Amino acid sequence: MPTSDLDPLLARIDAKRDEVTALTQDLVRIPTINPPGDAYEACARFLGERLAKRGFKVEYVRATGGPGDSDKYPRTNVVARYEGTSKGECVHFNSHIDVVEAGSGWTLEPFGGEVKDGKVYGRGSCDMKGGLASSVIACEALIESGIALPGALEISGTVDEESGGFSGVGYLAERGYFSKPRVHHVIIPEPLGVDRICLGHRGVYWAEVETKGRIAHGSMPFLGDSAINHMSAFIHLLETQLAPKLAQRHTREPVEPPGARVSTLNINSIHGGQLEQRYAVDARGWPTADLPAPTVAHSCRTVLDRRFIAEESLDEVKREILDMLQELQRTRPGFDFHIKEIMSFVPTATPQDAPVVDATARAIARVLGREPSYISSPGTYDQKHIVRTGKLQDCIAYGPGILDLAHQPDEYVGIQELVDSAKIMALAALKLCGAA
Ligand SMILES: [Zn+2]
Repeated sequence: MPTSDLDPLLARIDAKRDEVTALTQDLVRIPTINPPGDAYEACARFLGERLAKRGFKVEYVRATGGPGDSDKYPRTNVVARYEGTSKGECVHFNSHIDVVEAGSGWTLEPFGGEVKDGKVYGRGSCDMKGGLASSVIACEALIESGIALPGALEISGTVDEESGGFSGVGYLAERGYFSKPRVHHVIIPEPLGVDRICLGHRGVYWAEVETKGRIAHGSMPFLGDSAINHMSAFIHLLETQLAPKLAQRHTREPVEPPGARVSTLNINSIHGGQLEQRYAVDARGWPTADLPAPTVAHSCRTVLDRRFIAEESLDEVKREILDMLQELQRTRPGFDFHIKEIMSFVPTATPQDAPVVDATARAIARVLGREPSYISSPGTYDQKHIVRTGKLQDCIAYGPGILDLAHQPDEYVGIQELVDSAKIMALAALKLCGAA
């Protein structure tokens, strides 16, 4: 198709500026806070009903029995499919509908969807209801344009991305929703910036390490063996031996921000001894709640959050931590531990010459008049399920919004970015399904 033939499509999307704004506002006003998973059903239905009116076949897929699912908080996903007029490939836009809690520090109503100075404000405006709105407008404009569409367009609104996506994209991927022959190309409109293509992410290994001790009276600690002291020996090794090694391991992948172009380790949490309590005394100096009983900690648990680079293997990452624990077992009297994996995903990187990358890059050049930059994400997102479970490699994250604003107070998305990225998504989809 000659490129001038696409001008009416782009003009049509320009004319939908108010519509993409209003849709973003409407979505922000549905407070899909995760945890616990509020209003998922309402948001999925809102999206499904809109798309059904435009000719999409809409399915609601509840992850019954999946993590977090209950009758009070059903994990309801929506998948909508629009069949083209001839054979071709399917392009799928996947957005998560959940948002994190508002938190403090807002000067505007977090779920008000206010428009100010060319921006839509609110929790989820940037991450990622703005991107969802852009993808909806892109597909609707394509359908209305009357351009013959081969293949199919799909839009999904999925739950729980912020907490791992197991009842969202993970659940759908296990049931073939993100595999060939149903789907060929996936764009995830996460807020990576209107001219950046995110090819993948670093790997993750989460593990809970428990050290064990022997309980005794706190006034005679020499009669027991403190699990907290054992844990502190382990953490000392993590800090003095592992952390310097990780900082030396640089990746060739274009991870943004550049500080994340190395391997990292965070200690997400630690707990030892009795359950945490808040101790306070009244005016007389008497405790207002239970005092702690004097005991030597017989257990201490920590959750490690290890993020690794494409140049490392998951086996090496696990081995390295286990080696340190075993070393302590050999050298430190009484040291005993248990390690349990919570979650792991290997790094993903879609090649730069993959169809979805190429089509999006061309669309960015056409709409914005500049070449895209290619990045990789420090943390994982739903691409992990699409690659690992769906076995679909042709997947990127591309969408409007400034990543740094995600999860912050006064989060916003720029309206011009919503319009521009809708144009880019429409052009990319057209090329990928085989029309342009
Ligand atoms: Zn997100």
